[in-house]
Amino acid sequence: MRAVGVIPKKREVALFDHHVMPTLSEPGHAKIRVIEVGICGTDREICSFAYGTPPDGSDYLVLGHEALGEVVEVGAGVTRLKVGDLVVPSVRRPCPHDHCPSCVVGRQDFCFTGDFTERGIKMVHGYMTEFFVEDEEHLNRVPADLRDVAVLVEPLTVAEKALAQVTAVQSRLNWGNGAGKTAVVLGAGPIGILGAMALVVRGYKTFVYSRSAEPNPKAALVNSIGAKYISSETISLADFQKMTGNIDLVYEALGVAKISFEVMKVLGLNGVFVFTGIPPHKPAIPVEADSLMRQMVLMNQVIIGTVNADRAAFEGAIADLAIFKQRWPDALRNIISGRFPMESYRDLLLGKATGIKNVITIGG
Ligand SMILES: [Zn+2]
Ligand SMILES: [Zn+2]
Repeated sequence: MRAVGVIPKKREVALFDHHVMPTLSEPGHAKIRVIEVGICGTDREICSFAYGTPPDGSDYLVLGHEALGEVVEVGAGVTRLKVGDLVVPSVRRPCPHDHCPSCVVGRQDFCFTGDFTERGIKMVHGYMTEFFVEDEEHLNRVPADLRDVAVLVEPLTVAEKALAQVTAVQSRLNWGNGAGKTAVVLGAGPIGILGAMALVVRGYKTFVYSRSAEPNPKAALVNSIGAKYISSETISLADFQKMTGNIDLVYEALGVAKISFEVMKVLGLNGVFVFTGIPPHKPAIPVEADSLMRQMVLMNQVIIGTVNADRAAFEGAIADLAIFKQRWPDALRNIISGRFPMESYRDLLLGKATGIKNVITIGG
């Protein structure tokens, strides 16, 4: 089987032969033929050898954690899936410890020990190959009519989990589902755009604050879904705040601390700021800590970091994608900027980042 992965010891990114065909070893297993795999910043960072750990006993790690596949074989204990179903697998697998209160209830996204594994990232091979085997517990069924966009399910789970956290935190208020509130999305990459779509369908008045001046394709896409694109290059933060009024929610999808902590200064009364981006290690930057602390206390503000996603977030993403597809078929399709064969892996993983979401097609 062909696979794209990294060989950290040799600091190599390669298209190679990935040992033997995987087989069902447990009754709850299903075998999946990979249709396509999305590429994101995490994959690119693994290819710079910032992190990414092969399984024990392997020199290489197969990449890929944003996959769409088709069930080709099911074990005797599989109850929810059948051959021919389309599925999106989740990424994180539980730690082995009975004393982890999260992993024992299937909430490894909140693992307490740090000994979880992640397919395509940490100690388990990913999906950038022809077939894989997985327990049905970690597979989410996707309706056939979402086939052309279902590779976006995994990146959309970032917003789904974040918004579930926001709902939980804001249950302290008479907040409802956030309808009528004002949200600001930082960044217009796939996580930001999908997050903006999720906010718009929930009834938030949604602004996307990103660097590039208009006109540009991402701004056009954002404006076409009823959110408002604002360029930080042409509109100052003070002017931006005049346009938004009280900011109830900031959804950060940029991975840049400097602009994030600037925008934190304009978070509104009882507001929530959610971080989803992971900045690279960099020299320290000045932050107006006393005024931020004063503001957070006097304005009842909450800052949340969120990573990974649970089954509810995957199911929420699949349900939301169906809504997005009905409401904005062109905008949703345009998030996928290109589909490429496996042989293009080098440009996609090591070349300059281009477009919005690039996808490797494996089994069509
Ligand atoms: Zn990703
Ligand atoms: Zn755990």
